[in-house]
Amino acid sequence: MKSRFVFPRHTKADMPVAVAGDGPYLIDAEGKRYLDASGGAAVSCLGHSDLDIRAAIQDQLDTLAFAHSGFFTCEPAEALAEKLVSLAPDGIERTYFVSGGSEAMEAAIKLARQYFLEIDQPERRNIIARWQSYHGNTIGALSAGGNRWRRSQFAPFMVEAMHHVSPCRAYRDKLPNESDTAYADRLAAELEDKIVELGPDTVAAFLAEPVVGATMGAVPPVEGYFQKIKAVCDKYDILLVADEVMCGMGRTGTLFACEQDGIAPDMIAIAKGLGAGYQPIGALMVSGRIYDAVAAGSGFFQHGHTYNGHAMATAAGLAVLEKISHPHMLAGVREKGRYLTDRLAKQFSDHAHIGDIRGRGLFIGLELVADRETKTPFPPGTRLAARIKANAMALGLMCYPMSGTIDGESGDHILLAPPFIVENTEIDLIVDRLAAAIENSL
Ligand code: PLP
Repeated sequence: MKSRFVFPRHTKADMPVAVAGDGPYLIDAEGKRYLDASGGAAVSCLGHSDLDIRAAIQDQLDTLAFAHSGFFTCEPAEALAEKLVSLAPDGIERTYFVSGGSEAMEAAIKLARQYFLEIDQPERRNIIARWQSYHGNTIGALSAGGNRWRRSQFAPFMVEAMHHVSPCRAYRDKLPNESDTAYADRLAAELEDKIVELGPDTVAAFLAEPVVGATMGAVPPVEGYFQKIKAVCDKYDILLVADEVMCGMGRTGTLFACEQDGIAPDMIAIAKGLGAGYQPIGALMVSGRIYDAVAAGSGFFQHGHTYNGHAMATAAGLAVLEKISHPHMLAGVREKGRYLTDRLAKQFSDHAHIGDIRGRGLFIGLELVADRETKTPFPPGTRLAARIKANAMALGLMCYPMSGTIDGESGDHILLAPPFIVENTEIDLIVDRLAAAIENSL
């Protein structure tokens, strides 16, 4: 229906009205069932009707809904932080709760700055991130992000202290005959050059998504990339912030995506899968050294939101984490991810317009190109991915589209991030419906 009072994302679109969830399906007011192959945007990792999460939220509501974090801490927040820290990479000791991904990244940017003020290095004011990344829609996070289409309209607000280097995107940017190692070396050298250009003593942090989600469609780094990047950051005492808002929380087959890159970042932002759609929650996990600097210094993080550490949100997060951190669940993500990738490879191996299929675990992207040989994207404005999304919805399938960025620097892509509870028969259905939606859109 056309919203009458809601200000929708797409004011011209006629949206179905979601009325119920059933495992991996959403159901609209007409009774039509949509197989959720993208988790919305990599959110609904446990599907839409998990009774354990519902019970945890109800139990919490029976005792305490909300207590402002300026006055109290609460039991579910303490328990969730403890469990997250116990499962996190080395060095991570504290968790700062927020309500979503942009808030987590906004907190990361401000905490990076405050950390260096606390340790008496006030010159550290620059942040480096990567083109073709997405870190959120609030002004700080948007400025850090490297999605030109999302940034363009707000160019006057983009923060000067944010700088960008190239992403790690082997499909498009690795040179012919360049090895993964040489490519990773080249990118690490580019980061080092940027640090030197800005002045090493002025750089506070480097931000990156371990597996790039919304802008490029599940692009993992080449092997060794993050270790080299971490070495450069360490050389200049720059904080490494992993934005795992989309790729974290089991999505890639390990609880934290960066585990697979063998690095321990100074901060990790998480959101989406942590609440699994049952509650809005995000978190910034930080190393002991950062927390200790604040604790020993001013004793106050100059930041905060009304819903920091919300009792119902953290209770839901705890119940979700119990499930998604289970080794059996993570092994299932890896196994089903392999099945999905194999099915996609079989379906599209000869397809003239599928240039690349990539990803990790149940986080898979397909890049659409006008010409497979030359990797030429469809012209900007074709909005192919958006048409595939619409045709998929008509066929009862949700997939997440991203049309090529404004200057045609990448192709349209489709992101798949089905719930971890998806069955192989449902994966077959996803691939069949996606193939039909693509054919109907070309
Ligand atoms: N960071 C990444 C990597 C994301 O993918 C997103 C959202 O897609 C965000 C940050 C922003 O999260 P939110 O939409 O919850 O504010």
